Amino acid sequence: MAVTPRGTTPEPPDARPRLTVLSGPSGVGKSTVVAHMRKEHPELWLSVSATTRKPRPGEKHGVHYFFVTDEEMDKLIANGELLEWAEFAGNRYGTPRAAVIERLESGEPVLLEIDLQGARQVRESMPEARLVFLAPPSWEELVRRLTGRGTEPPEVIRRRLDVAKVELAAEPEFDETLVNTSVEDVARELLALTDVV
Ligand code: 5GP
Repeated sequence: MAVTPRGTTPEPPDARPRLTVLSGPSGVGKSTVVAHMRKEHPELWLSVSATTRKPRPGEKHGVHYFFVTDEEMDKLIANGELLEWAEFAGNRYGTPRAAVIERLESGEPVLLEIDLQGARQVRESMPEARLVFLAPPSWEELVRRLTGRGTEPPEVIRRRLDVAKVELAAEPEFDETLVNTSVEDVARELLALTDVV
């Protein structure tokens, strides 16, 4: 009989490696939370997405994203190499399928940080995935984050807020909701959900 240390839960024999999807409205702070998690736990594997967006200063190919051309993205999609993909703010983003499957098969937890359209596709293709919705502490806080420094024209801000309302309404589709009151707290909760700690 297997002996488990006191206070730990024995793993069920059919325990599957866990795929966790972090999603939520744009501007809610998903990437800040993920960056904090990885600082504390560099061993946590985060899928590197392909994108047609141009790199921002400091972003490295193969680390933050695989920066691809429109033609390369067309091929990735046509060849079925993406687990999911979506168009976001005029660019396409997708999760390379092979790397995710490889990690899951080797028993490692996998984290995807993707937009809502992508999360819905993962729900369809991998129903065992755990979908986590990152919610803002309040609507006012999301407005504050989305309007930023107030340098954008009111029309752009209005459009972003309209989109945010629709995005917030997606919350019931998710398995878990974490409220982003503190980056440290949310990162800790998410690490527990991803089975890293
Ligand atoms: P950004 O351009 O700011 O890095 O990302 C824009 C949005 O695209 C964010 O909401 C981010 O979560 C999402 N995103 C990044 N990678 C992927 C991906 O592979 N698939 C999908 N569906 N969304 C992604």
